[in-house]
Amino acid sequence: MLGFASLGSGSRGNATLVADADTCVLVDCGFSLAETRRRLARLGREPSDLAGILVTHEHADHVRGVARLADHYGIPVWLTRGTAAAIRWPRGVTLCEVGAGRPFTLGSLRVEPVAVPHDAREPVQYAISSGARRVGVLTDLGAVTPAVVAHFRHCDGLFLEANHDPRLLATGPYPPALRRRVGGAFGHLSNGQAVGLLKRIELGRIRWLVLGHLSEKNNCRTRLEAAVAPLLAGRVPWAVACQERGVPWQWIDY
Ligand SMILES: [Zn+2]
Ligand SMILES: [Zn+2]
Repeated sequence: MLGFASLGSGSRGNATLVADADTCVLVDCGFSLAETRRRLARLGREPSDLAGILVTHEHADHVRGVARLADHYGIPVWLTRGTAAAIRWPRGVTLCEVGAGRPFTLGSLRVEPVAVPHDAREPVQYAISSGARRVGVLTDLGAVTPAVVAHFRHCDGLFLEANHDPRLLATGPYPPALRRRVGGAFGHLSNGQAVGLLKRIELGRIRWLVLGHLSEKNNCRTRLEAAVAPLLAGRVPWAVACQERGVPWQWIDY
């Protein structure tokens, strides 16, 4: 079996668990140490269960808690050279360099880092496999590239960004420069872009889809549902990961 769960998702913090029967990893950690422990416990895990932390990029909502968690529990951290250089690390933390297009093994999991267009130093997202099963964690990208489609096309489970509704973004409280950043090619996926990706992948294979990294100011469940329901209704079970509660474990069995 292979499964995933979210500790919470949104601009105030992101962290996603991916595990099979033998190995459990955390993708990003945007929460404080105490908050991370509390949220892990809610999902039946503790920090000592983590074989590693996979970091996607250096934005605070993804790395706020990584250094302390790694340092406190001696958990190795996997990340690109560019991301590592953008963060201040305590001495003693084990950093393992990854690169887009260079898959590696972490315990019983196979991890593929995939380059994404986002306004960070060297951002990647991850496709993670156990045996024949494959889960994708795909947030923080401004555009769907051919490489993204190629790597996330055959997933059994997918955690996908649906950050904003373009009309809410255009009329919302963000200043023009931030609006351009979020909506730009190196920003975040809109609801419509998320649907665009879903149309390009093997949707029939997906057993569980979670939409996450929703903007609290520029998106809402009603708009998101209106955008995705025509494609997903009756075909794919899906849920929304919220900032406070994330989403519980979902297991894809053999
Ligand atoms: Zn983010
Ligand atoms: Zn980001």
